[in-house]
Amino acid sequence: MVSNLVSNALESHAQVFPVLTDAQINRIRPFASLRQVNDGDVLFRADDSDVPFVILLSGSMEIVQPDMNSERLVANHGPGEFTGEMTMITGHRSLVCGRMTSAGDVLEMSGSGLRSLVARDGELSEIFMRAFILRRLILINRSQGNVILMGSRYSAGTLRLREFLTRNGHPYVYVDLDVDQESQALLDRFAVSVSEIPVVICNYRTVLRNPSIQELSDSLELNCIIDESQVRDVIIVGAGPAGLAAALYGASEGLDVLMVESAAPGGQAASSSKIENYLGFPTGLSGEELAARAISQAQKFGAKLMVAHSIVQLDCDKNPYRLILENGKPLEARTVVIASGQPSKSEFGEIRRTRRLLWRDVHGSTALRVGGPDRRGGRKLCRPGSCVSGTDGTQGSHASTLATPFGQHVALPDPANRREPRN
Ligand SMILES: Cc1cc2nc3c(=O)[nH]c(=O)nc-3n(C[C@H](O)[C@H](O)[C@H](O)COP(=O)(O)OP(=O)(O)OC[C@H]3O[C@@H](n4cnc5c(N)ncnc54)[C@H](O)[C@@H]3O)c2cc1C
Repeated sequence: MVSNLVSNALESHAQVFPVLTDAQINRIRPFASLRQVNDGDVLFRADDSDVPFVILLSGSMEIVQPDMNSERLVANHGPGEFTGEMTMITGHRSLVCGRMTSAGDVLEMSGSGLRSLVARDGELSEIFMRAFILRRLILINRSQGNVILMGSRYSAGTLRLREFLTRNGHPYVYVDLDVDQESQALLDRFAVSVSEIPVVICNYRTVLRNPSIQELSDSLELNCIIDESQVRDVIIVGAGPAGLAAALYGASEGLDVLMVESAAPGGQAASSSKIENYLGFPTGLSGEELAARAISQAQKFGAKLMVAHSIVQLDCDKNPYRLILENGKPLEARTVVIASGQPSKSEFGEIRRTRRLLWRDVHGSTALRVGGPDRRGGRKLCRPGSCVSGTDGTQGSHASTLATPFGQHVALPDPANRREPRN
């Protein structure tokens, strides 16, 4: 859902397609290479990885998106303007193609070069981030993406996939088979029947029949930038408000942070139509918008997000700690923050008992816990004595930054249990 503030901003061409001043371009020159380009040259294609960031010095270019039959115009760029949207920050594959419409000179820099510039230069960071976020919102609003989802409003599977794509900020075309007159032609074209819905077509070639969110995420390569063999400073289990806050503060302190989220980011809060008690938003905002802002902010500082994967086990016997994904693959981190949220009511009694055990033996670990209690899917994430609880995102954030550099044992008391950790 796009708030009024964002809708107004979307209408402002200057914010979506800013023209950089000479002084701003000169600050970028040392980190970019100058290139002469001809009319018709394609600088990047849809589905490319490692897409370059391009600033036009002269000439013009168009940004187009391939669709089933040809391509759709997304934007035109002139001198002083720059390419890119949120994929420049997330490192995901490009959704669009950039093609010169008249010859000129461009400055080109790598995605990683752009990300370090954003981290260093406050003024340019503000201009780029605002434009990237608004451009992504425009793609979402216009359903300009590389995904077609065919389903029914009465199908739980359809709702599950729509929610996953929406919460990941991924633009897609939705074809409602109950009302769309042309849907039969689409079904025939991809040789699928109504009984197989929901059906997802990725990049106009891969057909997924009633996929799980893991299969959809794999097909879109949403986790392709995650190096699973890398030992992280911090791994955060869960990307609800607490996990996102921990990721933001950890990454902004220069730590190498990875969030692992079993569904899509935002947690419970993402289903709230309006949150009015969040600090700094006097008119309130939807949970979805809060989550989208938080993700962009955390990613701007370099935090990485793995979606559609669950942590099912945490081994704290030696450092770096090992976290096991549901597919059996291990991840390693020097600090673990568990921000897995509130369990179901039926689990609550057992969690209270588990928590007492945790508090008895909080020393000897830098695995931290923020947000709600620590049980999901009937399995304990870590053994008693190896993790520490906190109450909210702020505690998690400070915990992750405090714990990692010093390798200290950090206890964050939950008010409900405050009397328990005596030793
Ligand atoms: C409809 C609704 C409206 C609300 N409105 C408000 C409001 O107006 N104001 C307010 O203050 N609060 C509100 N809340 C409550 C608020 O959303 C929660 O307090 C908040 O989301 C808790 O944040 P959290 O990050 O601790 O946990 P969660 O939001 O529950 O996030 C935990 C995340 O961890 C993930 N996860 C769990 N286990 C694993 C695992 N093993 N591996 C990987 N990932 C895992 C989950 O998928 C989830 O995304 C509302 C809640 C709902 C449902």
